[in-house]
Amino acid sequence: MSETTIAAISTAYGEAGIGIVRMSGPDSLDVLRKVFVPGRNGQTQSSSEGLATAKQLQNDAAPESPAAQVLGNTGPWIPQPRHMYFGRIVDPKDGSVADECLAVFMPGPQSYTGEDVAEVQCHGSVLSYKKILSLMLENGAQPAEPGEFTKRAFLNGRMDLAQAEAVIDLIKARSARSFDCAVGQLEGSLSQKIRAVRAELLDLLTELAVNMDYPDEDIEELTYGRLLNRISLINDELIKLKTSSEEGRILREGLLAAIVGKPNVGKSSLMNVLLREDRSIVTDVPGTTRDTIEEQISLRGIAIRFVDTAGIRSSADKVESIGIERSKDAFNRAELLLLVLDSSAGISAEDMELIEMAKDRPVIVILNKDDLPAAGSSGPTIEDEICSILPGVRIVRLSAKTGEGLLQLEDSIEEFVTGGRVRREEDVLVTNVRHIALIDKAIEELSEAARMTKASEAMDFIEVNVRAAFDALGEITGETASGEVIEEVFRRFCLGK
Ligand code: GDP
Repeated sequence: MSETTIAAISTAYGEAGIGIVRMSGPDSLDVLRKVFVPGRNGQTQSSSEGLATAKQLQNDAAPESPAAQVLGNTGPWIPQPRHMYFGRIVDPKDGSVADECLAVFMPGPQSYTGEDVAEVQCHGSVLSYKKILSLMLENGAQPAEPGEFTKRAFLNGRMDLAQAEAVIDLIKARSARSFDCAVGQLEGSLSQKIRAVRAELLDLLTELAVNMDYPDEDIEELTYGRLLNRISLINDELIKLKTSSEEGRILREGLLAAIVGKPNVGKSSLMNVLLREDRSIVTDVPGTTRDTIEEQISLRGIAIRFVDTAGIRSSADKVESIGIERSKDAFNRAELLLLVLDSSAGISAEDMELIEMAKDRPVIVILNKDDLPAAGSSGPTIEDEICSILPGVRIVRLSAKTGEGLLQLEDSIEEFVTGGRVRREEDVLVTNVRHIALIDKAIEELSEAARMTKASEAMDFIEVNVRAAFDALGEITGETASGEVIEEVFRRFCLGK
C-alpha cells in the first residue's frame, strides 16, 4: 500500500459539462477535508449525516480547516463512504471559493485503486480543475504520474496486468469491436484463459518434479508418451489463442487499406461512398498528406483507415513525382489493397501493371462502374483475365455511383479481417502486442519441450522449457512481470487514469 497521496485531473483537459479531480492514498480524506466545505451557501446539511460524533471528533480534530470552521463546534466533516456531497472547494489560506462541486469519498480497499480515494466533480472548466488540483497539492497531495491510479490498482491486487492494459485499450479504442474486446479483457476474459493454461502447466511441472525427485515412490510414472500428449494439448490451446491475435491486432489498431487504381476509375467516388455510409464516425487521421488522403471509418465495427492514393504512374513532373512516391509508399504499407478498375472500359496496359504489382499482396479487386455497359469484347471476361495473374483473388463488381455491390465489398473486407472465421461470444481475442509476443514465447518453449520429449531427453531439461512457458504467460497477467515491464506498461497511460 502506497504511503503517498496522489492527485490528478481525471477528465479530459478542456471545456466540458463537468470535470473530475481525484486523489488516492492514505491522506485523501484529510486533504479533501482541508479544501472542501460541504453544504449550500455556507450552511451545512440540516441532518446530522456527515457530521462527526464526539468520539470521532477526538480522533479527527482539525480546527484550522475551513470545513471545521463552517461546522462550528460539531467538528470535522465525516462523509459517509461512497455518498455524494454538495459543497464548495475553498482555499484554506484565505477562504476564497474555487468552485461549487460534488465530493465523494471511497475508502479502500473497495475503491478503484484499493486505497482511500476522494473525487471532486466540479464545473467543466480548465481553470476550475487547475485550481482544485493546486489546492489539493498545496494541502498534502502529490502530482500523480501518468497511469498511477491504475498502477496502484494493479499493485494493490484490484486487477491484474492484462486487465490494467485493457483500461488503456478501452480508452483508446477506435471501433466498436475493439472497444468490446477491451471490455472483455477488463472483465478478465483473457486473464481467465491465461490462468487456466498456467494451471495446467503448473500441474505438469508438479508431476515432472515428483517424477524426478521421487522416482521410486509408488506414483504413476510420467512416460514420455503421456508427457508429449500433455505438452501438445496445452500448446494447441496457445496456438488457438495466437491465431486470434491477427484479427485482434486489426481490431485494435485498425486496418490500413489503400484504394489504388489509375486515374478516373472511381477511387475518390468509392472512398466517398464508403465514408458516407458511416459519416457519424469518420475521423481525420493525422499525417494526411496533400497527395494521399487518409480517413478512418468503422466498417461493421472494424476500424479501417482508407488511403486514397493519387495514382501510381511514372511522371516527369517533379511535384507529381513526389505524390507518386507517397502513393507507392501507401501501396507498400497497406495491409489490404483495394484495386479499382473501370469495368466499362476493360483492362488497359496501365491496369495490368497495377495487377502485376498486386501479386503476392493482400488484395480485393473492384470492378467499378458496373452500372455502365461493359466494354464489348469476345475474348475472356475481365474476371478471367485478372485471375490469370492473381489466381483465386477476391473480385467484387460494384457501382460507386449507385451503391450497388457495396454490401458485397463490405462482406469481402470483413471476411479478409476475420479470415472467414465465425467468432463465438466466448472466444478470447488477443489484441495486445506484448501479450502476443509472450504467447509466441510460450509456444516456442513448449514446442522445444515437445521436441526434447520426442527425443527422450532428460526430464529435468524438459522441465526448464515448460517452466519458461509458465513464466512467459505469467508476465501477461503480471504474476512474473519485472518492475521494468510494469513501468513500461503504465508509461502508455494518460494522466489521471
Ligand atoms: P478517380 O480519379 O479514380 O478518383 O475517379 P473519380 O472518383 O474522380 O471518378 C471519375 C469519374 O467517374 C467521375 O466522373 C465519376 O462521377 C465517375 N464514376 C465513378 N464511379 C462511377 C460509377 O460507379 N459509375 C459511373 N457511371 N460513373 C462513375
